[in-house]
Amino acid sequence: MTMIEQIEMKCSVCGKTSPQPVLFSTNTMGYPDLDLRPAEMQRSTMSTWVLECPHCGYVSGQLDGEVKITEDFLKSEEYMSCDGHEFEGRLSRLFYKNYLIAKESGTSMGCFMNLQRCAWDCDDHEDDNAIDIRKKAIAYADELIGLDDEAKNNLLVIKSDLLRRSGQFDKLIEEYSNLRIGEEILDKIIQFEIEKAKEKDTNCYTVEDVIT
Ligand SMILES: [Zn+2]
Repeated sequence: MTMIEQIEMKCSVCGKTSPQPVLFSTNTMGYPDLDLRPAEMQRSTMSTWVLECPHCGYVSGQLDGEVKITEDFLKSEEYMSCDGHEFEGRLSRLFYKNYLIAKESGTSMGCFMNLQRCAWDCDDHEDDNAIDIRKKAIAYADELIGLDDEAKNNLLVIKSDLLRRSGQFDKLIEEYSNLRIGEEILDKIIQFEIEKAKEKDTNCYTVEDVIT
């Protein structure tokens, strides 16, 4: 069962308080999507993953935590306008802003994760920005695959899904047809992604679709 409560939180940037949703417990039932988006109930906790200060516009997973950007950055055109993206969903906008902060403070994993989450919220609102956001995420996946050995295999699988969901079928088939990761489930997912790419299918699938 999921428990989310509103608590008063002090913003590290402006020092003012506001009520914010905080997750006390949740559980997951079912298989994740192929890009590892969790199943319900955890799926519905996304509103607690990124918070926004209503006073100064600061966005963070931890509003009262350490600040890595200046107040001026929060007033910049790129931040205020989300680089000109007009998102359908509130969370898409917040994850994009959190991505911009991660980019400003130089954390590629933060950039990647926030773009991925932004794309998930775009999916929930049938927002076509999802394609552009996935393409941006792929650039960070490529960078991280070269840097992070531990996360490399999962990132390779997620990247194949990002390619297919953003309609880059030929690129996926070319890059992945001869790739073997050596972990059965991950190689099965990649084969599944290649098959769906050949059918030019951009739909969302879960790990359950692969193993059944
Ligand atoms: Zn604030």
